[in-house]
Amino acid sequence: MYDWNVKRKTPYTENGIKRLCCARCGEPADCQWQICSDDRLFRPLCKTCDVLLNALVLAWVGHPEAENLIARYALSKSVSLNEVERLTGRK
Ligand SMILES: [Zn+2]
Repeated sequence: MYDWNVKRKTPYTENGIKRLCCARCGEPADCQWQICSDDRLFRPLCKTCDVLLNALVLAWVGHPEAENLIARYALSKSVSLNEVERLTGRK
């Protein structure tokens, strides 16, 4: 389980991030995110949650190419589009 008390203000190294679990789901982390309202702390995410977060943000801003961008990004991260659709409730 991810420890939300960790206050990482500098980015994890590529090897360092791979030793952590995803803040959202607990799977092995692959990348990191910062959120302004979270004091821009570095939070680890797995590939699937990174793709889901990208899909959420693109949909929220109403990006006209959201579907195509997410399809391309999911492919680049080797994340199944079926899994993205299942988890976002989109088809
Ligand atoms: Zn995850």
